[in-house]
Amino acid sequence: MLKVVEINNLTVQYPDVKALDDISLVVNQGDFLGIIGPNGAGKSTLFASMLGLNTKYKGTIKFFDEDIKKSKNYLKQLGYVPQKPIFEKNFPVTVTDVVRMGLRKESDENKIDKILQQLWIHELRERRIGELSGGQQQRVFIAKALVNNPKILILDEPVTGIDQQSIDLFYSILRELNSKQKITIIWSSHDLDAVNKLANHVACLNRTLFFHGESEKFFSDDALVKQYSEASMQEHMHHH
Ligand code: ADP
Ligand code: MG
Repeated sequence: MLKVVEINNLTVQYPDVKALDDISLVVNQGDFLGIIGPNGAGKSTLFASMLGLNTKYKGTIKFFDEDIKKSKNYLKQLGYVPQKPIFEKNFPVTVTDVVRMGLRKESDENKIDKILQQLWIHELRERRIGELSGGQQQRVFIAKALVNNPKILILDEPVTGIDQQSIDLFYSILRELNSKQKITIIWSSHDLDAVNKLANHVACLNRTLFFHGESEKFFSDDALVKQYSEASMQEHMHHH
């Protein structure tokens, strides 16, 4: 099986807090990994490190067997959907403009229409991004991430503040990308039910990684799920 990502002993120390403590993790080609963990668990820090946006870490991160500190080639194979950005209603950028930003070559312009259709936003292509609903905006950002046909898609808590119908559509799109187009998906979420339904692997993160394995194994183990919920609840109380 082809290893897409291999993380060994990753530790990230910010001035005030150790955000990640000795994380090791492998993602294989075709995996659909759900990363669950409460606020402050280090999910975004993990992604920032994988994307090369945070370089102050101990340990190693490899994509396709190459250390990301040695080669940035892997970024061409990677699509990333950040936590939801917020736009002014009149921000002068259309749906097509946003998706175009994801292109590496201007000559690939024809790819835009195709991805807009696949994500059910083709009709919105001339609309301003700020006029759209949260769910529509989300699909625009997924389109931007996918327009170069990446092999890996990383999504950081992508359903916060989005209506249920859009969430359902979003999940069905993710399922199809993974099962039909064989895109490896790494997705952080608060939604245990959704992770249970969609992901085939689960990582429970709360600074340390306290479970990583098959989704079935996690969700069939009541004690483990309970332990996760308690850790999550404590963290929640800690923050409020
Ligand atoms: P999550 O995405 O799971 O909510 P984060 O990775 O955003 O977690 O944050 C993990 C911890 O690191 C939190 O305590 C947060 O306050 C802290 N943190 C995140 N980013 C930075 C940063 N750039 N500088 C300093 N501390 C940070
Ligand atoms: Mg985050």
